[in-house]
Amino acid sequence: MRITFLTMLAFVSQLTLQAQTKSNYDNREAFNPLFNYHPGNAYRSGTGAPGPQYWQNRADYTINVNLDPGANEINGEVSILYTNNSPDLLPFVWLQLDQNQFKTDSRGSKTTPIEGGRHGNMGFEGGYDLTDIKAIKEIKQGKKKSFTTSVYQTHIIEDTRMQIRLNEPLRQGEQISISMKFSFKIPRYGSDRLGKFDTADGTIYEIAQWYPRMCVYDDVEGWNILPYIGQGEFYLEYGDINYNITVPKNQIVVGSGELLNPEEVLTKTQVNRLVTAASSDSTIFIIKPEEVGKPESRPVSSDKLTWKFRCNQTRDVAWAASESFIWDAAKINLPSGKTALAQSVYPFKSAGINNWGRSTEYVKAAIEYYSEYLYEYTYPVATNVAGVVSGMEYPGIVFCGAGDGNEDLWGVTDHEFGHNWFPMIVGTNERKYAWMDEGFNTFINDLSSRNFHDAEFYSPMNVRQYAPYFYDKDPIMNIPDVIQSRNFGLAGYFKPGLGLTLLRDEILGPERFDYALKEYVNRWAFKHPTPFDFFHTIEDAAGEDLGWFWKGWFFEDWKIDQAVDGLYYINQDPAQGAIITIQNMEKLPMPVTLKIQESNGTVNFVKLPVEIWQRGPVWKFLYNCTSPIISVIIDPDRHLPDVNEKNNSWSPTIYKAPPAN
Ligand SMILES: [Zn+2]
Repeated sequence: MRITFLTMLAFVSQLTLQAQTKSNYDNREAFNPLFNYHPGNAYRSGTGAPGPQYWQNRADYTINVNLDPGANEINGEVSILYTNNSPDLLPFVWLQLDQNQFKTDSRGSKTTPIEGGRHGNMGFEGGYDLTDIKAIKEIKQGKKKSFTTSVYQTHIIEDTRMQIRLNEPLRQGEQISISMKFSFKIPRYGSDRLGKFDTADGTIYEIAQWYPRMCVYDDVEGWNILPYIGQGEFYLEYGDINYNITVPKNQIVVGSGELLNPEEVLTKTQVNRLVTAASSDSTIFIIKPEEVGKPESRPVSSDKLTWKFRCNQTRDVAWAASESFIWDAAKINLPSGKTALAQSVYPFKSAGINNWGRSTEYVKAAIEYYSEYLYEYTYPVATNVAGVVSGMEYPGIVFCGAGDGNEDLWGVTDHEFGHNWFPMIVGTNERKYAWMDEGFNTFINDLSSRNFHDAEFYSPMNVRQYAPYFYDKDPIMNIPDVIQSRNFGLAGYFKPGLGLTLLRDEILGPERFDYALKEYVNRWAFKHPTPFDFFHTIEDAAGEDLGWFWKGWFFEDWKIDQAVDGLYYINQDPAQGAIITIQNMEKLPMPVTLKIQESNGTVNFVKLPVEIWQRGPVWKFLYNCTSPIISVIIDPDRHLPDVNEKNNSWSPTIYKAPPAN
């Protein structure tokens, strides 16, 4: 028998097949038909959209407070108009008292690790003083007549929650007005959500989680009453919020929503500059560096000023005040042709060392990008504040670090404003599902950074390099407070973010995925979706059953390990084609991309659907080669977080490439 070079190649190939190792993959588990069995109802449809009887309660707020720098205190009053749109009788209501985390005996304090931690309480004694708690119901008599009556029975405060018990239940369609006076000491470091930052020109106050807020009552869990411990964020009802902040007149105040009385709190020059900025694509100073702290930068008036703000259709408001602010602004162009105002406030030192002079450019770019990609920005203003908080988001306003170590101002600004879509527009339960805001946001940040200024700050993630660290940690589907804080960046941000990238680039393709994600945002804007509302909407709008991916990537910690086992030629003749064998070694199946190179120079890419793994861990397919194959590489562009890349390629062991000429 004449042994040709080609048949020797074929012989060696068959030998390599025998080296197959055992796979952990179970096709029946991966494609279990009952995983996605999460039937819809009148409130939430099986398609993932809100159902015909979807309801949501509403909370409108009026707040008046003073910032008292001398007493280091915020004090004032809140009045909440709460509407019960649910079909249920509510004999009591629950509110969130986040400031109570800053009591030294709070659950948040007691669960702060000994070494501290970003969201812990480092021994600050704060919390609310609450007085004059009232609950008043309007009783309708006939069409026009109505009278009000107190329905307050009693209240209890349990850590960061307050229950107000009512004399008579709140029925569907009824409203109560809840009011109280409140005050609290301002923590210097408020778990990286609020606090104070001292500069040469004065203190910067960043104030958030500052007023008693309604817990969400929904059709899924009733009252959502997880306490505020630190790492888990917020789940809030939508409504309109009017709030007035009284401060010493030297303070400049910025806040969520629209400033209603600029002519009362700004100079004529500043008002005119704001008008100019509102139609300028380049950044305009409202307060120049050399004007900071100068008496002529403040209007002539008494020693205090009240800054009035309104933010409509919002789940929250936050604000900041300081005499140290440089202030600049520019126009945001929105897809509808409308405009909004991007603005930044920062102290002098940050302008130089931390790129804050470009902050407004970053805010404008991020909001213009996300408005185009997902949903148009709905607030009139978007403000970036430099201060003690290293990176935190509220509707229409974000806090980014002013100090050293915050050189990546584009990255943090883009991230915090990305949150205006997840969870400010799409109102998910952050306290339970961090991945639905942090992970989704991490995903859109990647797209936005690629888009910004010729990818000036974009650095693609090498997923293959990080793959060994992606697994065997906390699965994504965990309450944030349960996830180890050292793993939170992974399970809350990067892994769910990468999950969406894999869905977009490897499973559905950008066209189907982008449409489906936009549909999810449209369906759930200013509403409260659950994880299954997201899963089913993507499946519905993209037209793909993805139960295997949701289960493996989000609920479990299944790894990816695709392998090329080897090949043999039909009748030992490369001209007749090759049978190539691949294996799924780990539990998560994925579609397959292979790069096949032949000795005659032909290079082909083969794509195989995920369904090849429905039969088991081994798949053989015919490849129509015309000459001996010199290499087969699986996932050649290294897009998958494949845990073992040693088995990702095949080449004939005795084949030597001809010398290059
Ligand atoms: Zn975030």
